[in-house]
Amino acid sequence: MRTDVFAQRHIGITEDNISRMLKTVKAESIEQLIYETLPSDIRLKHPLGLPKALSENEYLSHLKKLSEKNKIFKTYIGLGYHESLVPSVIQRNILENPGWYTAYTPYQAEISQGRLEALLNFQSMICDLTGMELANASLLDESTAAAEAMTMLFDLRGREQKKNGSLKFFVSEEVLPQTLSLLQTRSTPLDIELVVGNHNEFQFSTEFYGALLQYPGKYGQVQDLSEFVAKAQKHDIKIAVAADILGLTMLVPPGEFGADVVVGTTQRFGIPLGYGGPHAAYFATKEAYKRDIPGRIIGLTKDMDGKPALRMALQTREQHIKRDKATSNICTAQVLLAVMAGMYAVYHGPKGLSYIANKVHASAITLASALEKLGIEQINTSFFDTITIKADASKVRPVAERNEVNFLYNNNGSISISLNEATSIHDLEQIVDIFAKSVGKDSIRIDSLSDQLAIEPNLRRTSPFLENPVFNSYRSETELMRYIKKLERKDLSLTHSMISLGSCTMKLNAASEMLPLSWAHWGNIHPFVPVDQAEGYQIVLKELEQHLSTITGFAATSLQPNSGAQGEYAGLMIIRAYHESRGEGHRNICLIPASAHGTNPASAVMAGMQVVVTKTDDRGNIDVADLEEKAELYKDRLSALMVTYPSTHGVFESSIKQITKIIHDNGGKVYMDGANMNAQVGLTNPGEIGADVCHLNLHKTFAIPHGGGGPGVGPICVSEELVDFLPGNPVIKTGGDKAITAISAAPWGSSLVCLISYGYIRMLGEKGLAQATKIAILNANYIKDRLSGKFDVLYTGEMGRAAHEMIIDCRPFKHKGIEVSDIAKRLMDYGFHAPTVSFPVAGTLMIEPTESESLAELDRFCNALLSIRQEIETSSADNPDNPLKNAPHTLEMVTNDSWDYPYTRRKAAFPLPYLHENKFWPSVRRVDDAYGDRNLICTCAPIEAYQEA
Ligand SMILES: *Cc1c(COP(=O)(O)O)cnc(C)c1O
Repeated sequence: MRTDVFAQRHIGITEDNISRMLKTVKAESIEQLIYETLPSDIRLKHPLGLPKALSENEYLSHLKKLSEKNKIFKTYIGLGYHESLVPSVIQRNILENPGWYTAYTPYQAEISQGRLEALLNFQSMICDLTGMELANASLLDESTAAAEAMTMLFDLRGREQKKNGSLKFFVSEEVLPQTLSLLQTRSTPLDIELVVGNHNEFQFSTEFYGALLQYPGKYGQVQDLSEFVAKAQKHDIKIAVAADILGLTMLVPPGEFGADVVVGTTQRFGIPLGYGGPHAAYFATKEAYKRDIPGRIIGLTKDMDGKPALRMALQTREQHIKRDKATSNICTAQVLLAVMAGMYAVYHGPKGLSYIANKVHASAITLASALEKLGIEQINTSFFDTITIKADASKVRPVAERNEVNFLYNNNGSISISLNEATSIHDLEQIVDIFAKSVGKDSIRIDSLSDQLAIEPNLRRTSPFLENPVFNSYRSETELMRYIKKLERKDLSLTHSMISLGSCTMKLNAASEMLPLSWAHWGNIHPFVPVDQAEGYQIVLKELEQHLSTITGFAATSLQPNSGAQGEYAGLMIIRAYHESRGEGHRNICLIPASAHGTNPASAVMAGMQVVVTKTDDRGNIDVADLEEKAELYKDRLSALMVTYPSTHGVFESSIKQITKIIHDNGGKVYMDGANMNAQVGLTNPGEIGADVCHLNLHKTFAIPHGGGGPGVGPICVSEELVDFLPGNPVIKTGGDKAITAISAAPWGSSLVCLISYGYIRMLGEKGLAQATKIAILNANYIKDRLSGKFDVLYTGEMGRAAHEMIIDCRPFKHKGIEVSDIAKRLMDYGFHAPTVSFPVAGTLMIEPTESESLAELDRFCNALLSIRQEIETSSADNPDNPLKNAPHTLEMVTNDSWDYPYTRRKAAFPLPYLHENKFWPSVRRVDDAYGDRNLICTCAPIEAYQEA
């Protein structure tokens, strides 16, 4: 065996396994299997021309060299991004720990209690710091969170007002430029009129339904917003405030002066800058709006024994599940980063955060007074971490850049300097030195930090925060390490067993792909530095864009969208812009098959489109006749078709080319949802099937870990005609010549994790990528045939093959009293995470093994399912006291002195022999969702709540 071939490490199946598996699936060769799976008219005729594979060692040296092309300047640009210090204990035990980063979104609560607790901590932290009642965990970045606030308030207030013809949203001119750009993007399709101006001169009127303010403002001025908010309330105008999370430890929190929503980023709580992301944004609001909140909320409930347990609250109300009634399409969020930011607060506690904030504040004051001694005027009258100076940028900038320092050079000629946790007295002296040189004076020494305050008394925070024990218990590294480990041990991740979630592609996230994320030369780069300082990033991102364009058969790619759903929205907004550019802006019908993921209709509605659902035939394929009828009916207004390929039913529909042609013939564009790209890479592609634009989920197909529900990256790839419209950024030029406004805050979205996908492509190379696809298809068909006769597979292709995933039907077990959820919970006793439950068909499981699993693991999983199948056989609807209904079984339950069940403890917890030597214990019994939704508690409960239970 060659030890330097990465494909052999990424792909779990060996050459020897293949022949055995081919026998099971009754195929002569892999080629034959693929022939029987993929319609021949869409097979690629030529190799893609991607580079050859690098070994892991070669890749790491390559990335090291590239990283050195990034210049790490001292950067004081601010605008929502600050250098931060990642506590090493968090870096090592969370960011670099597959026990945390390979976990899935916590839908299966009983085996996710660890990250649920970490996210509850995050929510508590946000509620405390903002002074609000309820917070989610989490959103994608500050700017998209602000846009979510604008649309949530629109939904609350705007709908009625729309009837009255008044539909305006006020945006303070103090708002960050990237946020303004995002508001422009999101407001246009909804006919919301943005009015930007100085909030002190705002004319309150009932024409406005809401407003967004920035706290402190983009140049650092802290304003008293309470009067504005009070007046707004009188006019029934809802207020959102974008607030600096660290600043809130010192400033009156917006909840205390009546804000309806508070949003922001938690990047400066120990998350690397990463050239723009990923970072977790927060969204906090009033309890009254709990049904309208975008994203996910963690809540407290109880389990079957009445013990406290956590789970995702109001789950069925997750916005995108409402499909075309949704007001947000957030699915993947920033869970791993939210866990890290929450843990930063757990580690530092209220006193530590106050210390950091005070130090940053003192640094800003010290700097301002030193500059004043040089005769340089500082403008902000009240500030937290950012000072703004009247100076001659043309003199300062060259000196600063020679000294490897970045400031924010404002259009009005002023210079802003944002200080941060990492700023030392030496750094302050360097800044003073730069300004001294620029005015030709001698520099000034700084002996110590000022002990004054530059925050007006009425703006100073007096209320306490983070009083819960969790924020006051883990000060030493030993203690925090053990707390993190304690939570990690409650969670099932890829470090335990395969996670066969259909549509989610839980494949290997290789260590060599992950390692560079920890390197300072990738981590510590602000997204708005001049591009020539980020040459290493520019090379990687451009190359990644090119490879993704090649793989999809398209002309260009934008990496900006930071989740799959954001990609959908971006793609549809580009289609919209394209139609408009041709004078066909009235095209607004979006056809979507009934089986589509909920984010598809949610994105379409956000893009101002009207959703028309098309039927599926009884073989699970798009009903072409119905599609054609609707396309023709709406031919004058047809904008797009959204289609997932292979379908969410796990089938390569052979009529796909006919389908794309029907849409084109009727003036529409084809949007392909690329979530299932793992079945296509190297064999076919969206360009080949006739699509015009697609998104990819780099966190599915291209090896970015799920992180417990994010980060994700959802780049869009487009055909030649659409290249000009790729999204831009207001600070750093990116995108096409007729770029639509921003989709995410940062120019290249979550650049740091793009390294992972780049590594995946470079280390697998052309051949490895195609081989991965083939083995993913082989593995799915192997499982299908091993389960055959015991479980019905709902849909297959024309020759009886599954694509890379399949749906097994659990509805036939209803007469035994067994529901699909019972099977999902029983799998936990066998050490497995359930496959996707009830998507896209209720009462089913969708299994996707991916290429990374070994034959032994596939067999272990099949054996577990087959054993459960036998248990179903012996259960009866009359007596629900059986291992399926009682699943999962906890350690506490089976070691209890009494055991009143009609089956043995061994049967409960060790139903198959492999469990004796490797047992994963669910930490709570089955959770009660309904109870938790009725009694919504979304912050760390006071200790008494636990004692009562
Ligand atoms: C995962 C998925 C999406 C949404 O992607 P996110 O990254 O979670 O926003 C859309 N469509 C399908 C079919 C998916 O599986």
